[in-house]
Amino acid sequence: MTARILDGNALAQTLRADFKTRAEALAARGTRPGLAVILVGEDPASAVYVRNKVAACEKASFHSEKIVYPADVAQDVVLAKIAELNANPAIHGILVQLPLPAHFDSDRVLEAIAPAKDVDGFHAENVGALMQGQPRFIPCTPYGVTKFFEAAGIDLKGKEAVVIGRSNIVGKPMAMLLLQAGATVTICHSQTRDLAFHTKRADVLVAAVGRPRFVTADMVKPGAVVIDVGINRLQDGPDAGKLCGDVDFDGVREVAGAITPVPGGVGPMTITMLLANTLEAAERSVR
Ligand code: NAD
Repeated sequence: MTARILDGNALAQTLRADFKTRAEALAARGTRPGLAVILVGEDPASAVYVRNKVAACEKASFHSEKIVYPADVAQDVVLAKIAELNANPAIHGILVQLPLPAHFDSDRVLEAIAPAKDVDGFHAENVGALMQGQPRFIPCTPYGVTKFFEAAGIDLKGKEAVVIGRSNIVGKPMAMLLLQAGATVTICHSQTRDLAFHTKRADVLVAAVGRPRFVTADMVKPGAVVIDVGINRLQDGPDAGKLCGDVDFDGVREVAGAITPVPGGVGPMTITMLLANTLEAAERSVR
């Protein structure tokens, strides 16, 4: 069997067209969705992510502001900026690009964002709301994954779902969303014994590990839905310099029922759901 490819670019395009229409309708009533993105330091990957987020806002007719600080900026300067953005009615979403430099207390910075503007969904209040099954902002990457299930008509009720990775950004919220959709969920991580025992039982397998081609065909149940969250740059071999996921795509696609590619799978959906959360925040602000 060759797996059906779940195309993140196509899905992102469909959703973004809808968001643009909604943003223009809102703007016609006097509110343009606004996102502020704070970048500290010169990490090249972070700079690319921020640029892509701002560009996506522009394309969707959102207002956006990019605030860049040098790596040695004092935390208090950033906290004061967040306080200012919290009070700014033209800004509906605030995002601080992670990781922050070592002298920052990331938790303190994230907690400084007003929960109603926390479009990344990382504030403890929003994490708690998600845990309680009443999400207000869902972290963008797992939120994007749920859209693949919706679009492909994949019913999760009663399914065995396995998530590899337990980060606050991907693994944990992903597991919570799968649970809420009715799946029986297993979270695997770096201390899991016999990972393949778990993954081979999965009707739905989500890999969020950060290791290139880590999930191989022999770890996957025939017909499973495989979601590859990983973004890794290959260091050596014939494909050096290329991006790849946490899943060995060529091998796993021969076993799985459906699979997301890298690039072109989960990646484009993450920024799409940032737009969704910002739009939702703007719509809520006038309700
Ligand atoms: P992380 O480093 O915070 O977490 C990785 C997780 O993998 C950890 O919970 C760890 O326990 C687990 N792990 C490590 N080794 C393991 C092993 N041998 N067996 C089982 N589990 C193991 O990473 P993250 O922020 O969750 O990101 C994971 C991947 O997803 C990275 O490649 C990252 O670049 C990518 N990512 C992609 C997007 C996107 O938009 N597509 C967004 C966020 C993260």
